[in-house]
Amino acid sequence: MSWTNLAWNGRILVVDDAMENIQILHHALRGEHEVLFALDGPRAIEMALAQLPDLILLDAMMPGMDGYQVCAALRAHPALQDIPVIFVTALTHPEDETRALEAGAVDFISKPFNVAVVRARVRSQLTIKRQADAMRELSRTDSLTGVANRRNFNHTLEAEWRRCARAGAALSLIMIDIDHFKLYNDHYGHQAGDVCLQQVGLALSSCAARPQDLLARYGGEEFVLLLPQEAQPGASVVAQRVLETLRRLQIPHAGSPTAPFVTASLGVCTVLPPFEGRSSDQLIRTADQQLYRAKQSGRDRVCVADQDWDAPALTH
Ligand code: GH3
Ligand code: MG
Ligand code: MG
Repeated sequence: MSWTNLAWNGRILVVDDAMENIQILHHALRGEHEVLFALDGPRAIEMALAQLPDLILLDAMMPGMDGYQVCAALRAHPALQDIPVIFVTALTHPEDETRALEAGAVDFISKPFNVAVVRARVRSQLTIKRQADAMRELSRTDSLTGVANRRNFNHTLEAEWRRCARAGAALSLIMIDIDHFKLYNDHYGHQAGDVCLQQVGLALSSCAARPQDLLARYGGEEFVLLLPQEAQPGASVVAQRVLETLRRLQIPHAGSPTAPFVTASLGVCTVLPPFEGRSSDQLIRTADQQLYRAKQSGRDRVCVADQDWDAPALTH
């Protein structure tokens, strides 16, 4: 699929207090796009949240909440801030245009507008938006396995740490390390090792299915599962599911002293609110200590940190 093809068939929200303008824009765009409309600012934000359009065409002058205020509200909302906004307005002064761009608009079209120009500008903004989305997705993804990368994990951990602390919810972390993977490479070759990592990544992605769960590749043959709003018993269940899933896959590992198939060792740690006095680094370190314990005690198993893992005995 080329970048240009990606630009077609967007979902466009047209916001204007004059029905006549909405009709003209609807007519201009409906051949290529799905066109939604709203007659005022509050309704526009409601629609944007419910429908997540790819682009918003926004009238600057509206009674009540004007276009600049709508634009500022969109920019302030995490779910809406990446939706490009094009101002469509009868205002023609350079300062109006500047004000629109400063409010966060990506483009500015003056009324009366030329329909072909509107179409072309919409296409070009959709192309830019899709490219930016694709780049963002790439920058968050591990290229070998297709799961989230370490950067994405770090970012999500910080966000979930704050969110769970605020909500008074538990946060669990599972570190997963494939057993004797060096021997796997030695025996089957590095390329087969890569394929194995892909198979493991795919299998692990089915182990924690809630929308807020995150599977990431943490390093070479290490994966990590972040489970927001999951206490220790639930995290242990997920960790056991990982073990079982890998065992069922039965990827041959003739060089492993542990089992004839690929296995993994897991370390689990849960932080319970209040989070004060603890850090996400400690959470990672403690899960890693449990992983080390699982390795030491025979591999192909799960070790879970005590509820009071932050007690001084474990942290020095
Ligand atoms: P343990 O059971 O103690 O975890 O032993 P191990 O051999 O799995 O651990 P070690 O850390 O000694 O070796 C990890 C191996 O993983 C070595 C490295 O070559 C391999 N590895 C890391 N990243 C990749 C990768 O992207 N592809 C392949 N094929 N191998 C990788
Ligand atoms: Mg390792
Ligand atoms: Mg390993």
